[in-house]
Amino acid sequence: MNGLESVHIVEVGPRDGLQNEPRCLSVHQRVSLIQQLEATGLKEIECGSFVSNSKLPQMADTDKVMARLSLSQTCIYSALVPNQKAWSQAEGIEALQRIALFTSASELFCQHNIGCSLSESLKAFAVIIPLAKAKGLKIRVYLSCVWGCPYEGRVDINQSLALAATLLEMGCDQLSLADTIGIATQSQIKTVLTAFKSIDSEHIALHFHNSSGMAIANVMQCMDMGFVTFDSAIAGLGGCPFANALDSGNLATEDLVYLLHGLGIETGIDLKQLCSVGNSLCQLLHRSNASRLSLSLLNKSTLVI
Ligand code: MG
Repeated sequence: MNGLESVHIVEVGPRDGLQNEPRCLSVHQRVSLIQQLEATGLKEIECGSFVSNSKLPQMADTDKVMARLSLSQTCIYSALVPNQKAWSQAEGIEALQRIALFTSASELFCQHNIGCSLSESLKAFAVIIPLAKAKGLKIRVYLSCVWGCPYEGRVDINQSLALAATLLEMGCDQLSLADTIGIATQSQIKTVLTAFKSIDSEHIALHFHNSSGMAIANVMQCMDMGFVTFDSAIAGLGGCPFANALDSGNLATEDLVYLLHGLGIETGIDLKQLCSVGNSLCQLLHRSNASRLSLSLLNKSTLVI
């Protein structure tokens, strides 16, 4: 695979995954999940979102979750910081090494889902980014709807590219380009990433949803073009609020790791242990596992992974 030796996985299940679940986990359960995920060998975990408890109860007390974690030498802990108020909660968290901000390549998605215009979201970032940088934190920005928007349809690539360049100039270290509604195909991935060639691939992560079953194929396309950072969620949790199917969630970490190991790309992740964490989590959440690998292993206990 284009000489790739390593791939970096950003586990987003404890944030992007849990925030979409009808059942809320306790602080203790969320801390335990993060620790179990880290124990499998994952090197970056998005641990929560600093939102008001009433707005998103699934992410309530993210400050308490993160206060129970110690600064890790082997795993980067990050969290979503949606606004300045959130920053005031996040800034004192010792274990936090990276903050994630959220905006959209589509103006209408921004207005509907973040509750502000695109330019207002950038104004908020202009305040938060220097404060976070001054604390030595890395900055990730989610750029949603790069491959399409539920309100605007196709999104202009030049608009996404200009926004990406602005965010990097503002001090963003990593952009996570998201196929929020899970519609991208390999050729569309190629078109966008070719347009993004002026940006060093080390600043780019890819965030795929599996709504159309294209996530793994799209990862392959990205790796073929030299991109090595991918978001995924344990058990394929999370998802797009515009689709109802169980499989509309994030690319499952188990499936991504299975692909990488199959390609001979070492991740340092214990896949068997990872599947076990995903299965236990699904029991806790009373939901089905959306990892294709875990589903296929259910009745094949002799299969070695
Ligand atoms: Mg997602």
